[in-house]
Amino acid sequence: MRIGFVGLGKMGRPMAQRLVEAGYDLVVADSAPGATEGFTAADGFEDVDLLILMLPNSAVVEKVLDDLVPALRAGTLVADMSSSEPLRTRALAVRLAERGLRFVDAPVSGGVRGAVAGTLAVMTGGAEADLAAIRPVLDVLGRTVLHVGPVGSGHAAKALNNLVSAATLAVTVEALRVGAAFGIAPETMNAVLNSSSGRSNTSENKVAQFMLDGSFASGFALQLMAKDVRIAIDLARALEQRTELGDRAEEQWTRIAAEVTPQTDHTRMYELLGGPR
Ligand code: NAD
Repeated sequence: MRIGFVGLGKMGRPMAQRLVEAGYDLVVADSAPGATEGFTAADGFEDVDLLILMLPNSAVVEKVLDDLVPALRAGTLVADMSSSEPLRTRALAVRLAERGLRFVDAPVSGGVRGAVAGTLAVMTGGAEADLAAIRPVLDVLGRTVLHVGPVGSGHAAKALNNLVSAATLAVTVEALRVGAAFGIAPETMNAVLNSSSGRSNTSENKVAQFMLDGSFASGFALQLMAKDVRIAIDLARALEQRTELGDRAEEQWTRIAAEVTPQTDHTRMYELLGGPR
């Protein structure tokens, strides 16, 4: 199987690397200077069987496909592994189908570490047969591959997962700050969370690893997390579902995202929310 891969950023580069190491014939593209170094950069994607996208958001995915679709063979499968907007994804799949292209959404969770190790969680949306066709590829990238439902379902599930993750991160920092004000060291408070019912991916995999040590180097941008929270809340609104904590999280992450650079890591929320050191 010949694979086209567009988007060699923090996630895409290690994912593409794993596919090369697994023996796939890969052609790649990225708009950033130097981003394709070490790979075979494509002049075109005429002969790919599968086109994987690992791009920032739906707007970029649509723009890239506008440029690439004319070059793709009918029957080519497009897999958007970015964290995109589920309703836009549905509409996109219809437009691609009109051009004879198959489409699945297959966003991931597990961060840069998971991308490097091939232990991502992949949540997929699309037709059973299309997902079966790329299952061996997804198995190189992820440890868990869940078929969530029809096209767009993977993107919906991903955004909802990150809503939970973002709100949990923020409330964990609040608990550590209040604990510190009472005289409980943040390391101690986090150990309590990790041995108790307040534990989470934030307390287990972010507080000690990226926050308390001041490294803020998880590799997942704060603005990307804020985008995911907005996608989840936009979806809730489109479905006329009330969200209360979610609305607060969206307001908080959107406000803070506007004050930082695109490079600011999401774990820096710890500092921005006054987390104790
Ligand atoms: P990133 O910004 O590091 O990478 C995005 C890449 O897309 C960059 O290399 C950029 O140059 C490229 N790009 C942008 N516009 C382009 C265009 N028009 N044509 C070609 N290439 C273009 O982002 P990332 O952290 O790798 O995240 C990618 C996606 O995965 C996002 O949707 C993000 O929300 C999601 N995600 C990220 C993580 C993480 O931990 N970083 C985890 C899970 C999901």
